[in-house]
Amino acid sequence: MSVAEVGAAIPPLTALTEDERMFQTSVRQFARDRIRPHVREMDEAGVFRKELIREFFELGLMGIEIPEEYGGQGGTFFQAVLAVEELSAVDPSAGVIVDVQNTICNNALLRWATPDQKAKYLQRLSSNTVASYALSEAGSGSDAFAMATRAEDRGDHFVLNGRKLWITNAAESGLFLLFANANPEAGYRGVTAFLIERDFPGFSVGKKEDKLGLRASSTCELILDNCRVPRENVMGEVGKGYKIAIETLNEGRIAIGAQMIGLARGALEAAIGYARERKQFGKPIGDFQAVQFDLAKMAVDLEAARLLVYNAARLRDAGLPFLTEAAMAKYYSSEIAERVASKAIEVHGGVGITKDYPVEKLYRDAKIGRIYEGTSNIQLLTIAKKLLGR
Ligand SMILES: Cc1cc2nc3c(=O)[nH]c(=O)nc-3n(C[C@H](O)[C@H](O)[C@H](O)COP(=O)(O)OP(=O)(O)OC[C@H]3O[C@@H](n4cnc5c(N)ncnc54)[C@H](O)[C@@H]3O)c2cc1C
Repeated sequence: MSVAEVGAAIPPLTALTEDERMFQTSVRQFARDRIRPHVREMDEAGVFRKELIREFFELGLMGIEIPEEYGGQGGTFFQAVLAVEELSAVDPSAGVIVDVQNTICNNALLRWATPDQKAKYLQRLSSNTVASYALSEAGSGSDAFAMATRAEDRGDHFVLNGRKLWITNAAESGLFLLFANANPEAGYRGVTAFLIERDFPGFSVGKKEDKLGLRASSTCELILDNCRVPRENVMGEVGKGYKIAIETLNEGRIAIGAQMIGLARGALEAAIGYARERKQFGKPIGDFQAVQFDLAKMAVDLEAARLLVYNAARLRDAGLPFLTEAAMAKYYSSEIAERVASKAIEVHGGVGITKDYPVEKLYRDAKIGRIYEGTSNIQLLTIAKKLLGR
């Protein structure tokens, strides 16, 4: 094979198809034109504008992988990753809304929902219904299957009691993919996945968190007080929810990697723009080699993280194993996002820590990357298990 033939058969990781390029360009444009003007106000208010979420639906960004027969785009996981990256370069809160919807919730329904559940919910998810993924609780975060929420089997329905914490999108969601234990004696083998509609009796959305970063993305408590869930809303088999929970998170964390590389790119672009404009000692600060080196190191970090994220996403779309690669991508990209955003503030000098420039917000937003969808330690555990053959 010639080099050109090999290049065509195994394209470079960052080479995009025509469709991917067009999709990327349209999301980038949308993020810059429609989201950017509202970023500061949404961050300060701690609320994401409803009309922007409506526009996500209109653009097909909430049903990227959902087949066209259900009103989705019939796209790929990689496209979802591109969307999350592009939105996050402008606002990581926008990125996480689209991330949870596509790479976790829609993804789980596509894999495990019954034909009836698909017919009932996929159309809504691609056209008007935001979804949440509810696993964590006050007492069970990293040790997620130690959950205290219980599901009691009453034949044609289950009764759920407990509380979920930290649930992204909950303020806006109409559908919740929620995990409860239906057989505590069996430990994690009792964990069961339920599809819960917001108006099911006994279900309510509780306190919304006031956060350091990602402030426009809602993070709320969920309360299940004798919540009645019809049996047909069990997703997958009773007692097999642990598999759904783990496997969706394994995929979802690739998109958190995408959120973090988007964020890092936003910070780097801001730093480059400022380095060109800001003058000290009679010349732009970008003329000083020390500043140039900072920018260059940020670009290297970003490129390395992007390769990890794209590789994990391409492996997933190819049906190849990606567990370790996804953990590496999430671990590394969240680490460099914090570093790049921090350095971007330094390049800005004093104004970098004011709200007049975008970098202080990106720095605050970066912190969550090392925590949700498995903390950095949990990613390292996954990688180490593979290394040691456990
Ligand atoms: C903004 C935000 C949004 C979120 N969105 C969602 C959501 O939509 N759905 C959902 O279900 N959850 C969500 N979460 C929850 C999130 O996934 C958890 O916060 C995360 O898994 C960590 O759990 P924890 O907070 O209980 O921390 P803990 O598990 O208590 O961890 C505390 C520290 O101990 C370390 N640690 C714990 N166990 C080990 C171990 N075995 N080895 C080494 N170190 C360990 C951790 O790495 C961490 O540094 C969200 C959280 C936040 C903050």
